[in-house]
Amino acid sequence: MLIDTHCHLDFPAFSPDRDAVIARCLEAGINYCINIGATLESSAASLELAAKYPQIYASIGLHPHDADTFDEKGQARLRELAAGKKVVAIGETGLDYYRNLSSKENQRQAFAKQIALARDLNLPLVIHCRQAEEETLRILKEALPLRAVIHCFSGGQDFLEGCLASGFFISYTCNITYKKAEGLREMVKLTPLDRLMLETDAPYLSPEGFRGKRNEPAQVKLLAQEVGRIKGVGFEEIARQTTQNAKEFFKLS
Ligand SMILES: [Zn+2]
Repeated sequence: MLIDTHCHLDFPAFSPDRDAVIARCLEAGINYCINIGATLESSAASLELAAKYPQIYASIGLHPHDADTFDEKGQARLRELAAGKKVVAIGETGLDYYRNLSSKENQRQAFAKQIALARDLNLPLVIHCRQAEEETLRILKEALPLRAVIHCFSGGQDFLEGCLASGFFISYTCNITYKKAEGLREMVKLTPLDRLMLETDAPYLSPEGFRGKRNEPAQVKLLAQEVGRIKGVGFEEIARQTTQNAKEFFKLS
C-alpha cells in the first residue's frame, strides 16, 4: 500500500479521464490520495472529489501565488470549507519568492492566516516553499507547536535539518528522479525514513522518462522504488513506513 500525499486531481488536466486516472492509481497499489487545494475554487473541488471517491481526502488552502486575492471574504470562505468532511490538512500555503506572483507582504499574511486556521482546527499544514527557506522556517518555528510537511522539498541541508529539528515531515516528488537532481537525492539520503512522505504533485513533475507528460498518482510506485534505491532500503519497507507516516500525519482512518 502507498499514499500520494499531494496531488491536484481537480485540475482541468484531469477533466477528460479523471475516473480512469483514479482507477489506475488503485491498480498500482496507491490506496489513498490527498487532494490539495490551491485556490478557494480548487479547495471546494477538492471537497467534492473527497465526497465522491472513498480513497480521496482533502486539504483546504490557498497557494502563495494567489495571496494577493485573499481578502476577508476569502478568509471566511476558506474557514467554511475547512470545516468540511474528510478535510485532513490546511494548505498548500507558504512562501514562493521564486516566482513572486503575489507580493511578499500578502504571501506572509495569507500564510499567517492559514497557520492560525490550522491551529484552531488542530489540523496539520502542507507547506509550499520556494527560495524562502529561512523565512518559512522562522515563521513556522514561531508558531510551534504545530504539525507540518514541507511539500516538494527543494531546499538545502540547513533547511532540511531545521525542519527535522522542529518535528516537521519532508515530502519528495518524482523530481528526485531527474538526471540533474543529485543534490536532491543527497537530501533524500539525509531524511530519516520515519519523517519522509511521498507525493506526485500531479499533474506536475512527471518522473524521468515521462517528462513533458501529465503526471498522475500511480507514479508514486516508481517514486517509492527510487527512494528505496537511493536509501538502499527495500520497496516493501519504503511503502510500509511512508504509509504509516502519512496515516499518522493526516490522521487517516
Ligand atoms: Zn501542489
